[in-house]
Amino acid sequence: MDCAAYRQLFPKYTDFPIELEDQTDEFDAWNEHASDCNECQEWAMGQYVERRGYRVSDFPCVHIADAVTFTCHMHPDPWDCPDYTIVYMKKSKLYGLPIRDGGSAFIPINYCPWCGVHLGSREPFSRRLPLAFLSDVEDDA
Ligand SMILES: [Zn+2]
Ligand SMILES: [Zn+2]
Ligand SMILES: [Zn+2]
Repeated sequence: MDCAAYRQLFPKYTDFPIELEDQTDEFDAWNEHASDCNECQEWAMGQYVERRGYRVSDFPCVHIADAVTFTCHMHPDPWDCPDYTIVYMKKSKLYGLPIRDGGSAFIPINYCPWCGVHLGSREPFSRRLPLAFLSDVEDDA
């Protein structure tokens, strides 16, 4: 499967739950492309960000856009959920990688862990974060 076909089928195979009758050879090929193609992985991240109601262009890069607009329905607090890869400290305006030791320690980051872009403090970026990230998490690391 090529990139164009993958992207065309994207809506079909990301409309959960996937019906059993949709899990065909085409679906296998689509999944295979998804795991092999870096460009399509990044493209797909952008699609998810837009589905959540955000614009990728409001963020330093698509990785950060995806990481900080992610919300887990089971864990409204990012500290409770291993699926959140990045946390945002409201008071210090720092982004960080959470340390999952039961507390709220984190490793501050100035660059995107995936592509290395400088995160800086783009104001629209922090103001548009989902509520979970703007809640009063502990900020004494
Ligand atoms: Zn591709
Ligand atoms: Zn969760
Ligand atoms: Zn990045």
